[in-house]
Amino acid sequence: MTAPEPSRLAYVPFVSVANMMRLIHRIGISEMLSGVAAYIEEDFHRWELFDKTPRVASHSDVGVIELMPTSDGAVYGFKYVNGHPKNTAEGLQTVTAFGLLADVQTGYPVLLSEMTVLTALRTAATSALVAKYLAPEGADTMTLIGNGAQSEFQAMAFRAICGIRKLRLYDIDPEATRKVMRNLAGQGFELTACGSAQEAIEGAQIITTCTADKQYATILTDNMVGAGVHINAIGGDCPGKTELHKDILSRADVFVEYPPQTRIEGEIQQMPADFPVTEMWEVITGAAKGRRDARQITLFDGVGFATEDFSALRYLRDQLETTGLYEALDMIADPDDPRDLFGMLQRAKTADL
Ligand code: NAD
Repeated sequence: MTAPEPSRLAYVPFVSVANMMRLIHRIGISEMLSGVAAYIEEDFHRWELFDKTPRVASHSDVGVIELMPTSDGAVYGFKYVNGHPKNTAEGLQTVTAFGLLADVQTGYPVLLSEMTVLTALRTAATSALVAKYLAPEGADTMTLIGNGAQSEFQAMAFRAICGIRKLRLYDIDPEATRKVMRNLAGQGFELTACGSAQEAIEGAQIITTCTADKQYATILTDNMVGAGVHINAIGGDCPGKTELHKDILSRADVFVEYPPQTRIEGEIQQMPADFPVTEMWEVITGAAKGRRDARQITLFDGVGFATEDFSALRYLRDQLETTGLYEALDMIADPDDPRDLFGMLQRAKTADL
């Protein structure tokens, strides 16, 4: 088979799962988490430039399929992502994703990538970046409740960006916790497997909840949360799917990505529509205060916002030239004469494509 005439087809760089994994190993996971976090931080500084909309969600009884679009005026991006908590019982991922960047000037795609792994990286990078601004000073211990697909990425990002060294783990399924213990052995963590959420939060300055259950769950109750902690709640990210008792929200200062989306999907869906929140971009740019004092409870109600995927794809795109870890995808029909799409099709009948 001969290669198609380059002038007839626009090739789109495509990062497969295999190349994404090669890239992470080539760069190093801690370096990559820090790199993605730096791009996310940069884009929070450019917040006002972005087209912003709550994600477009199609719900079913068992899960959700969502599109997450945004643009900074020069580049457009979107992610396709699902959330199906029942999937793991069937041997499938709860969350899978892919995403695309396009040139706003031409509308042509400039990158297509797997984003199941990249979402885990960007979610962890976002959580740790937020904690850099909100967590109590000197925090070295984090509780991880929910030891599924996201959990090790969260741990690695908090180590790379916030200096977390001690992890207290809990999952309703002890096998999930054993998996994290295995995967993170030798990564420089002091790991403690706990028998309950209550036990897991003891002595931790940061509590991460990343459970998956399609219901108003109560992973943490008010009496479990002591003064001064930072809560990184990322598992409640869909209408009817939350992790925290609402009394915690009343006691904490709540920080969010994009309020119109978080009010639909986040922990604060349990609260009145005018419940006060602070937007993270304001904290990051210095327009709003993050942590004020050592007794304050800070809560990141993280649902994942389109700009974070955009930042992660932007980071990825910047790594392609030096690493070459992509394939050229024949995805855009681009005839020499732009009006002769049909002629291109006819010529293909005889051409050796
Ligand atoms: P997963 O299904 O791989 O893991 C979830 C884990 O939670 C499982 O091990 C399960 O046993 C455990 N769990 C369920 N109920 C629990 C409970 N009551 N107490 C303790 N553990 C419990 O899912 P994942 O890919 O790790 O994702 C975790 C959650 O994070 C999902 O809800 C997902 O939708 C969400 N998520 C959010 C973002 C974001 O940006 N905020 C990004 C990705 C995923």
